Amino acid sequence: MKAILIEKSDNAQHAAVADVDRARLPAAEAGGEVGVRIDYSTINYKDGLAISGKVPVVRTFPMVPGIDFAGVVEDSTDPAWKPGDRVILNGWGVGEGHWGGLAQHARVRGRWLVRAPANITSRHAMAIGTAGYTAMLCVQALERHGITPGDGEILVTGASGGVGSVAIALLSRLGYTAVASTGKMAEADYLKSLGAADVIDRSTLSAPGKPLAKERWAGAVDSVGSHTLVNVCASTRYRGAVAACGLAAGMDFPATVAPFILRGITLYGIDSVMAPLDVRQSAWARLARDLDLAKLDAITSEIGLGDAVAAANDIVAGRVRGRIVVDVNR
Ligand code: NDP
Repeated sequence: MKAILIEKSDNAQHAAVADVDRARLPAAEAGGEVGVRIDYSTINYKDGLAISGKVPVVRTFPMVPGIDFAGVVEDSTDPAWKPGDRVILNGWGVGEGHWGGLAQHARVRGRWLVRAPANITSRHAMAIGTAGYTAMLCVQALERHGITPGDGEILVTGASGGVGSVAIALLSRLGYTAVASTGKMAEADYLKSLGAADVIDRSTLSAPGKPLAKERWAGAVDSVGSHTLVNVCASTRYRGAVAACGLAAGMDFPATVAPFILRGITLYGIDSVMAPLDVRQSAWARLARDLDLAKLDAITSEIGLGDAVAAANDIVAGRVRGRIVVDVNR
């Protein structure tokens, strides 16, 4: 099969398309219970980190990267799955410690798979990918908090990225007033076409700020972290909530407790990688219902396996808008 293979020698890692013997995929007892013929994979920010080697995401070498894939079951020792089932995989350490989705075939544990919703093709599933599924987890956290469209503006940071683009499309479809924060003001029209009611420059949030700022946001989806997340919390309205999922600007969180103890705001941590199956199924069912697939198409670009390494470097450099799907068979 064709696959991206990351190899390490002399402490340097190298990624390229390779011909890989399928017999090297993990056996059932090593987590390869279900064989999947992959239609599409995608390039998430984490894939960018893994392939570029910028952050040590990959734990064993050689590694086939790709934290996501969508395809069709070929064989299974797990009775939950049979040949022909359409499946989606997100996370679980696949593409980090277990061979992943940037390949024509994969072998994974049955309990890691989600059944693809009937109206979601493999291509759409990967246009959504971990980024879009995480955006839905963030939206669901704000909903569970009790935030309704009438409560006011919802801020989305890192708006032109994968999580941000899908979050804006979802929030606007659900009737919320989504405000996009971006470093690419030239993309304001793109963000408005996804449903953003307003677009602000991310520089207004990225510098160290005061413990409390003017109250503006009823809620927020943050994929940026660092001072941005601190400032978002400081400007969230009384009893509002922030869903934090990312670290595009940094892993630090140099905050004070002021927004928590004086305004009663709530900070929700969002993890997609190890989320339990019922949480995943709920998010995917909501994506199938609430995501405008025409908007999804508008944020998606497609590449072949041979372009995946370049795209991985682009996403880490912040040069990617929206979502990239990878047709692993071309
Ligand atoms: P993308 O690269 O597609 O988007 C990130 C966006 O963040 C960029 O498009 C840019 O948007 C903004 N950004 C980039 N660099 C900076 C910076 N230095 N300062 C401020 N903003 C910046 O990545 P994804 O959307 O796929 O992922 C976003 C983040 O969420 C990543 O950190 C990723 O690791 C994390 N993540 C976490 C998950 C979880 O389970 N918790 C799951 C999925 C993603 P703009 O130019 O519009 O400002």
